[in-house]
Amino acid sequence: MKVPFSRVDCDGNELEYIGQVLRSGWLTTAGKAREFEARFAEVIGSKHALAVNSCTAALHLALEAIGIGPGDRVMVPTLTFTATAEVARYLGADLVLCDIDGRTGLMTPAIVDRALAEHSDVKAVLPVHYAGQAVRMLDDADDPEQGEGLLSVCRRWGVKVVEDAAHAFPARRQGRTVGSFGDLTCFSFYANKTITTGEGGMVATEDEDLAARIRVMRLHGIDRDVWTRYTNPNASWEYDVIAPGYKYNMPDLNAAIGLAQLERAEAMRQSRQNAVLRYRDRLQSLDAIQPLALEIDPDDHAWHIFVVRVQPHARFSRNDLIPLLNEQGVGASVHYKPLHRMTYYRNRYQLQPDRFPQAEQFWNSCLALPLYPSITDEEIDWVCQTLETLLGES
Ligand SMILES: *Cc1c(COP(=O)(O)O)cnc(C)c1O
Repeated sequence: MKVPFSRVDCDGNELEYIGQVLRSGWLTTAGKAREFEARFAEVIGSKHALAVNSCTAALHLALEAIGIGPGDRVMVPTLTFTATAEVARYLGADLVLCDIDGRTGLMTPAIVDRALAEHSDVKAVLPVHYAGQAVRMLDDADDPEQGEGLLSVCRRWGVKVVEDAAHAFPARRQGRTVGSFGDLTCFSFYANKTITTGEGGMVATEDEDLAARIRVMRLHGIDRDVWTRYTNPNASWEYDVIAPGYKYNMPDLNAAIGLAQLERAEAMRQSRQNAVLRYRDRLQSLDAIQPLALEIDPDDHAWHIFVVRVQPHARFSRNDLIPLLNEQGVGASVHYKPLHRMTYYRNRYQLQPDRFPQAEQFWNSCLALPLYPSITDEEIDWVCQTLETLLGES
């Protein structure tokens, strides 16, 4: 049996909506993109949702909109994809990397509080809702022992919050939807994410001024977009450029795929959840494999990737395990080699691994197993059986 690590699910209305766009004669950003934005905003319960051509673009625009520039410093968890961090460098800002909670892979309010005490010049924090489990953003009224949520910690330090929700659609925590928490939230619709547009992203915000700035900057710094000029008979031909903006708009061809995906987002999330619950059940008897800690109700989890930790006493290390799994037709991956181990960040900031003890342990042992809506029970059982054969006691 062959169980690939990732598999795209485009079995809904994708082709039909793409056909509508092709027949409309307008392939770039217009009605379909506007419709995708409106539906997406509705689902996450946010006032503004602005479609762009990647999550990286979304993160770049978000940091630009809150005024991040040369000399500023921005805090990101070391356990993330380079996009979360590189956008600060686009703007001439520098990075402060912080450790994560090794049980979940997440930033915690306490870790961020300690890191901000040490680096009081930080202007913005970018939490990553790793694997689809949201960071604890709000204070816990029922459990004061838990203390402040991440938003309160950042407010106390006068720091803005830009969420990297590339893994976290649709996701919730503490009764709220990811996208309705912080100043700005950025989503990814890259091919292997929980919903896709091929390539694409979205910025969500409640703030009118931030939304206006991003709307202008995603299309060349033009004061209103091309679509309004062409469709409004009273609009004049004239437009103004108020800043050196970017070319980050989402084409309607991509938005068409997104609209069809959005219709099935919750059903696909539920399928991934069913798969994860089967994995967790089957793997319970295997001491060598430990799934990540679950701090939330499974229904609130986006379940983007299924990550387990290979325990230190296991017969094979994570590195030795991956090729053995591949030989049995099982795809596997590592999310992520932390940024402090990447040449660029390590050299620029002279980073020592012992500054990130939890991320170090996490990355040495983390293993992502196949997860997608169309994975079958037989495929999950094959993955678990293969792990059992390789790592089981007997
Ligand atoms: C995928 C991903 C991104 C980048 O998304 P793109 O849409 O490919 O730009 C950013 N952050 C994280 C955590 C991701 O997984």
